[in-house]
Amino acid sequence: MCSVQDGDSEGPLQKERIDPGRKCMKCRTENAILITRVNDAFCRDCFMVYVTHKFRATIGKSKLVRDGEKVLVAFSGGPASSCLLHLITEGLSQRAHKKLRFLPGLIFIDESSVLGDLVDNGGVAEVKKIVELMAATGYPCQTRHLEEAICLSQKGQLPEVDLSTLTESDQANVQAADLHIQDNLDRARVEIKSLFASIKSLTAKEDMLNRLRQRLLMEVAQVEGYSKVMTAHCGTRLAVNLLSDISQGRGAQVAMDTAFSDTRSSVMLVRPIRDFSSKEVAMYNSLHGVESVFIPTLTTKTSEGSSIEHLTEAFVTGLQADYPSTVSNIM
Ligand SMILES: [Zn+2]
Repeated sequence: MCSVQDGDSEGPLQKERIDPGRKCMKCRTENAILITRVNDAFCRDCFMVYVTHKFRATIGKSKLVRDGEKVLVAFSGGPASSCLLHLITEGLSQRAHKKLRFLPGLIFIDESSVLGDLVDNGGVAEVKKIVELMAATGYPCQTRHLEEAICLSQKGQLPEVDLSTLTESDQANVQAADLHIQDNLDRARVEIKSLFASIKSLTAKEDMLNRLRQRLLMEVAQVEGYSKVMTAHCGTRLAVNLLSDISQGRGAQVAMDTAFSDTRSSVMLVRPIRDFSSKEVAMYNSLHGVESVFIPTLTTKTSEGSSIEHLTEAFVTGLQADYPSTVSNIM
């Protein structure tokens, strides 16, 4: 599968197991507990320092996230999101060595109108847990529904109003407007269901879901005065996106789709954990006891070849398991 270049006599480096008694490459005193990337064996403490530094350095080097800037952090409840949220909470806390100084606001997009049939009871318990996890951080947080992406023109511009300050007729007007919004949302929910039902291929459904989610994030950020949106795409995810983008003829966009910052829309998108592998994310979460919530995707429980993205994911993660430098090479 991998062709060996001239001069590379050894070929790609195969995965290594940690020999018992192998020391951490940083401090050289503690026993190593994991190997990141190709052959870097770390102990617990050095791994923590390494990932935290990597996260801060990615944000710091770019010089894009300014002090006091409002940043909308997209939270899905998944492992990468939970890892990012934990890194942000730690980074903003008083005890942090080089404190981060932006102002995060969290957003969860409830996609149950599209994914509800894939999970017990429409995912009510999962959504509740996600809302609890967000609220526990103490940052401003909100839940939006995916269907809002197709009725945006009605939603968002209306400011929150304190009903008690209004005259009776104005109160009635505001309540009528609220009903109107709810009405639109209900209609949008029906519309989005039939939209997804009408799309035949799973690849196109995934693409539509990504686009609607992105559109809603950008719109909410714009309306609420956030100048950046942060997403928890890790390197493994981006490598999968990159290959599936190319195979779907979107090669021209891959630079923006995988870079730290994406400036195609008026609100900048940043990906501060793009240098993390999914293994590092899982390790970080397990060592810190970070909770995450499992929400199915369109391709959960489908066969490998059900969509281009799903097939690419199986290919990349399969290769990564045997050749730990796969993701970094693709990137
Ligand atoms: Zn160490």
